[in-house]
Amino acid sequence: MYHHIKKLMYTVNVGTPDPRLGNMLLEQFGGANGELAAAMQYSIQGLNCEDPDRKDMLMDIGTEELSHLEVVGTLARMHLKPMKKDMDAAAEDPLIAIAGGGGVGLVNSMGDAWTADYLKITGELDVDLRSNIAAEARAKIVYERLIDFCDDPGSKDALQFLMTREITHMKAFTAALESLGKDPFSIGKIAPTPVLVNQYFNDSTGVGDEGETDARGPWNEGGDWEIVEAPELEQGVENLASAHGGNGRNGKARNKGAQPALITRSASKARKRA
Ligand code: MN
Ligand code: MN
Repeated sequence: MYHHIKKLMYTVNVGTPDPRLGNMLLEQFGGANGELAAAMQYSIQGLNCEDPDRKDMLMDIGTEELSHLEVVGTLARMHLKPMKKDMDAAAEDPLIAIAGGGGVGLVNSMGDAWTADYLKITGELDVDLRSNIAAEARAKIVYERLIDFCDDPGSKDALQFLMTREITHMKAFTAALESLGKDPFSIGKIAPTPVLVNQYFNDSTGVGDEGETDARGPWNEGGDWEIVEAPELEQGVENLASAHGGNGRNGKARNKGAQPALITRSASKARKRA
């Protein structure tokens, strides 16, 4: 059950209201990486979670996000309030001024309505935790940008608090994921196809001024990596077909192992792209 305590999680002091900032703050109220999205994502993941320890964490953090929604909503409201009566302020966002009376609504900074499509809920705990880590990183960077555009010390202070908590959550989700003790590349139950899983397709190539660098790094060399040069462009679609066959041969040698059904499928895909 939820219980509302009649005080904010963090005290909000606003010196001079800035309707432009108020508008930007809506990104963290009703936006894709905002507090309502975070609250709903974690709480609903929590409802689906069969691991009691991590369910507890998801519900704790989901609930804290609701408290953040209250803080950022209060902050936005204080900055938007002049829109109700002041023409210059109202001109910053007529939607909020005229339709919303200078109040916060579940919209982002562009006035787009909040949507459950923002939420990432898969019902697979480790996959959900990865989504949550990324969501916290996005929330953090949005707060950082809001702080950059904020001149009011009291508002900055509240934003710093909210930004910090997102890193705290990121730490908790990361530790929860690691504590599952799963191989980081083992997702679900079905194993990936051997050989194919370690092939890096060098799919962006060019010549002359358009050639640029074919970058090499730990994302495509060392360990189990095998680089496959422009498989569709250079060798036709056979590369992909034989890779599906899992014979492990690279480059031109692979052509002979092609399977007709896969060639047909890849060829129609290539035509569509052309
Ligand atoms: Mn938050
Ligand atoms: Mn958070």
